[in-house]
Amino acid sequence: AQRRAQDLFDEAEQDASFSVQEDLDHLEHKLRSAIARRELTVHFQPYFCVNSNKIAGYEALARWPQRDGSFIPPSIFIDVAEKTGQINELSALLFEIACKEAREWPSHLTLSFNISALQLHTEDFANDILTFVKQWDLPPERLELELTESKLVIEGKRACKALADLRDAGVRIALDDLGTGYSSFLRLSKMPVDKLKIDRHFIAECQEDHRVKKIVEAMISLGKGLGATIVAEGVETEEQLYIVQHMGCDIAQGFLLGTPRDAQHVNHDISYEASVVVPLSTRLRAG
Ligand code: C2E
Ligand code: MG
Ligand code: MG
Ligand code: MG
Repeated sequence: AQRRAQDLFDEAEQDASFSVQEDLDHLEHKLRSAIARRELTVHFQPYFCVNSNKIAGYEALARWPQRDGSFIPPSIFIDVAEKTGQINELSALLFEIACKEAREWPSHLTLSFNISALQLHTEDFANDILTFVKQWDLPPERLELELTESKLVIEGKRACKALADLRDAGVRIALDDLGTGYSSFLRLSKMPVDKLKIDRHFIAECQEDHRVKKIVEAMISLGKGLGATIVAEGVETEEQLYIVQHMGCDIAQGFLLGTPRDAQHVNHDISYEASVVVPLSTRLRAG
């Protein structure tokens, strides 16, 4: 029987190992036809420059709408796409949608797009991305690719070459979910990155846990030493915003500042921000 997306989501929240073969087969099939019918879409979440209080860009987040109005979350279907060899096709569809929106935004706004480490290992990855941005009319300087190491280790000549080629063309590289997964110091020392995104679990615990706070401070100083821009992910409260700002994070992102919204809402927010003198977010406190 077909289970509701929300059930799958709840179950996944409770038990990360939910993906028994039965679910995988069912979702593989369902995903394949959803991609073919272009039923997937992208929501955008803003991130703010802590010093100027302004939106610096938007992160594209994949969404799979269901008939009942719910969404299957990307934590589930990205994984399915990776396991069933559909990730490149899926990503190409999402990338097209995201680029076609981003090219209409004011030119100072960056599009951040998540890619799976698996894609980095596919032949011609860099070339494909550069061909796509050209085709969809987005200057490579306005694109940032977010890589997460939680699923696969980024290594090998091909992956390094791809990153180097992309950066040479002006695309920026961000390391997502820093502090979780396999982002070892050794790998960090070898991998040129423009941005480090401190995982939201650290931000959530920073306030109460002195040891977590010390680690976040160290990550910030490490990142700055490497010349990277530092992002605090998952900022949900005024207190967290205050803390990350005072610790020296450059960019803040999280539900407090803006949730992921569809393109129509984003366009509305952008035109609103452009039409007022006071920045959209008055929440960021002066340094
Ligand atoms: P991510 O790239 O680290 O994205 C941030 C996730 O945290 C998003 O979840 C976002 O909705 C959520 N988030 C943002 N602010 C807050 C906050 O203040 N509090 C909390 N609790 N959560 C917050 P989402 O959209 O469910 O995406 C989950 C993950 O799925 C992403 O994590 C990313 O790794 C992956 N993903 C999403 N879209 C794509 C895509 O197009 N391609 C690939 N390869 N992966 C994607
Ligand atoms: Mg991300
Ligand atoms: Mg992240
Ligand atoms: Mg994350």
